[in-house]
Amino acid sequence: MASAYKIAVFPGDGIGKEIVSQAVRVLQVISNKYNIRVETQEALVGGSAIDAFGIPLPEDSLHLAMVSDAVLLGAVGGPKWEGLDYSIRPERALLGLREKLGLFANLRPARLFSALADASTLKRSVIEGIDIMVIRELTGGIYFGRPRGIEKIDGQERGINTEVYTTSEIERIARLAFQMAGGRQKRLCSVDKANVLESSELWRRVVNTVHKEYEDVTLSHMYVDNCSMQLIRDPRQFDVILTNNMFGDILSDEAAMLTGSIGMLPSASIGGDVGMYEPIHGSAPDIAGQDKANPIATILSVGMMFKYSFGLDIACEEIESAVNRVLDNGYRTRDIYSPGNKLVGTRKMTDIILNELA
Ligand code: NAD
Repeated sequence: MASAYKIAVFPGDGIGKEIVSQAVRVLQVISNKYNIRVETQEALVGGSAIDAFGIPLPEDSLHLAMVSDAVLLGAVGGPKWEGLDYSIRPERALLGLREKLGLFANLRPARLFSALADASTLKRSVIEGIDIMVIRELTGGIYFGRPRGIEKIDGQERGINTEVYTTSEIERIARLAFQMAGGRQKRLCSVDKANVLESSELWRRVVNTVHKEYEDVTLSHMYVDNCSMQLIRDPRQFDVILTNNMFGDILSDEAAMLTGSIGMLPSASIGGDVGMYEPIHGSAPDIAGQDKANPIATILSVGMMFKYSFGLDIACEEIESAVNRVLDNGYRTRDIYSPGNKLVGTRKMTDIILNELA
């Protein structure tokens, strides 16, 4: 284990600044506890970078990410920048970071904190005990495929995007998914639309081939429309879900919402030398600057950083169980509040989690 880790901290926009500063407090406490030296350095990305430099991902910020061991990101975007051209919107910073850091795999755990079962729109009996890992391919597929664009043809416009995957792109994400399933309940469900799309036909064939290297893992295939239904009907049937960029974008939000609040859910993007960790929610401009944001998704993202970038699973488990105890003790930010619990703000919630960690 290296003795000092360099972490690029990108608060971004809106509530990003509030939640990231709190998550950094947790990062420092856990690092001290495990005797790991971390150096954090902040830089601008997203709308705040547009305001300062005219572009969402300045060269210095990208460089900082590339020379770091991990990136902690808040969220980017907001109404202020919505009118800008797509090429310089705040969200381009995320695509740029994913591409330049080679982050081809997005991991989104959807695990239920039992104390929050009633915050879900689904019945407790359906969601109790769910523990799903959605693995989404992040740098290929229809979001990147060419040709793309809007063209004029025969007096009308035509919008084009291209779903494209190569064997090697599928192999590398499949290997990662089999390895992850191997460390869990050893069940992998690959989701595609192989009944209609050739790119999915190839996806399924390659996943089957890679399976031969991981025969201890049980592999199943499911069409994306069925998976979307099964996630609501019987989510406990899933352990690890592997899918492409677009299906993963949609299914990971669906899986996440099984657990109740968007403010609770972390994510990791991995694949290259530098992992990137961020909450799944956006910059929540409606509550920015009011100490109302739930910092837990970002704090759990720090846990994922310890696990996936620094190989310290125990630190991740410690953060998760501290969060669990705080919820069991009835502390809630506004987004997860229900009568009878204790309403706290962003900073206070972090104070209480830090108390538990101590
Ligand atoms: P959002 O996730 O920012 O907010 C949706 C709703 O959830 C809002 O009511 C918000 O108050 C609430 N919410 C979100 N996070 C919360 C938290 N931690 N605690 C309490 N409540 C929370 O999604 P949106 O409103 O659709 O988007 C707002 C901006 O964020 C847009 O500019 C969008 O493009 C951007 N966005 C960025 C990312 C990212 O940076 N990865 C992801 C999604 C959206």
